[in-house]
Amino acid sequence: MACKICAGEWPPKDHKIAELELTIAYLHDNQFFPGWTVLVLKRHATELFDLTREERSQLIEEVTEVSRTLAVVFDAVKINCELLGNQVPHLHWHVIPRLAGDPAPKEPVWRVLHEPKRLAQDTLQERLTLIQKQMKI
Ligand SMILES: [Zn+2]
Repeated sequence: MACKICAGEWPPKDHKIAELELTIAYLHDNQFFPGWTVLVLKRHATELFDLTREERSQLIEEVTEVSRTLAVVFDAVKINCELLGNQVPHLHWHVIPRLAGDPAPKEPVWRVLHEPKRLAQDTLQERLTLIQKQMKI
């Protein structure tokens, strides 16, 4: 099966935040929830049990650092971390800051009907820089 992450089709390259040891962080192309980030594994694997213990351990460190960064930058009330893969099986985490004023704070984002919000290029660049400045790894 063709993999859109391995093929470089998603996430959009100009949304890249940072390259970590095992993963690359991208701002999600839909910013309806400000700061929504996707953390993709550099190599193709589809389940946590496909990774070595060391990789899993490093992966959770990277998810944690991205979470901490987004919590600081966006002053989040809660961080959601989701590993699904039903549509794109290649391992990728959604790390989503949930802010004060969230339209449905008790629901996962997938259950909140909304128009996807694309950022203008200058706003995108500003947001990427803000996050990059806070990343410690
Ligand atoms: Zn892949």
